[in-house]
Amino acid sequence: SQPIEKPRSQDATAVLSVKISNPDRVLWPRTKTNPATTKRDLARYLEAIGPWMIGHLAGRPCSVVRAPDGIKGEIFFQRHALQRTPEGVTEVEVGGDRKPYIQIDSVEGLVGMAQMSALEFHPWNSAPDATDVPGRLVFDLDPGSGVAFDDVVAAAIELRGRLEKLGLVPFCKTTGGKGLHVTVPLDPKRSHGIGWDEAKMFAQTVCAQMAHDSPDRYLIKMTRSLRRRRIFLDYLRNDRMATAVAPLSPRARPGALVSMPLTWGQVRRGLDPSRFTLRTVPKLIARSEAWRDYDSGARSLKDAIRRLVGAK
Ligand code: ATP
Ligand code: MN
Ligand code: MN
Repeated sequence: SQPIEKPRSQDATAVLSVKISNPDRVLWPRTKTNPATTKRDLARYLEAIGPWMIGHLAGRPCSVVRAPDGIKGEIFFQRHALQRTPEGVTEVEVGGDRKPYIQIDSVEGLVGMAQMSALEFHPWNSAPDATDVPGRLVFDLDPGSGVAFDDVVAAAIELRGRLEKLGLVPFCKTTGGKGLHVTVPLDPKRSHGIGWDEAKMFAQTVCAQMAHDSPDRYLIKMTRSLRRRRIFLDYLRNDRMATAVAPLSPRARPGALVSMPLTWGQVRRGLDPSRFTLRTVPKLIARSEAWRDYDSGARSLKDAIRRLVGAK
């Protein structure tokens, strides 16, 4: 009699309704502290954290970083839709650009992008379905060489205080890289007439005041050579087509680190961003209160600008 044919070992695997090809392909090789992380791990990660993450992506164009052969292979940044768009991913035309952009509108779409080996997710910061309207501000704290991470933490805390004085409700996350992001949700309904020019000017002014008050610690000039031992307060994320890595997005860098949303209680001396990996984050975020008040924290940028102008 014929032996019963065993199912072929893990050629494909399904996550939600998405068939994942080459699920055992290693995207992040193992490091001293992190085991090898595969395409299946990525798809399951996005399935697990997708419900938390999707609200920050839906309704906005989203660039992705793809690495079909893993982070040791070719890595490319992609803005425009593919020939074949996965379920849950929308092709959006913006302004005069006739090539449609990628927009990820559901968890299934996120997993579909994992099948396309998308490792990082970089949405625009516009309001949903309104690219001309600022939906959030992102302050990108970029430490130069010789800056201790505790000093980046101190910068985030100082920035928080300045933004709260202007009536805003800031949130902090690690980037999965070297710095921190401070994100401020905006309420477009209460900011009529405020566009990206005003948003960028506002962010620049807040950062310029901070750099003016501590010129030995902060700067707002791009010049790389000036950044040694100082933190570049990168306000340039606040423009129509500018992106910031999404909360909970993995990074295509060694160790499979993730951009982790934090409570302000976690933003303190000794904070170690390397704790937050594709393997550790699903459990950590499930019991975290980080960013719980993000939606209710949305404020009027118009009011904040009025306060800023009135204050100085
Ligand atoms: P780090 O903490 O290491 O600085 P980061 O994500 O903040 O990590 P940045 O280089 O400061 O990295 O960039 C900030 C954001 O700007 C990124 O998250 C990304 O969305 C966007 N960005 C950066 N470089 C590019 C690029 N070459 N093309 C498009 N977008 C970019
Ligand atoms: Mn940065
Ligand atoms: Mn930057």
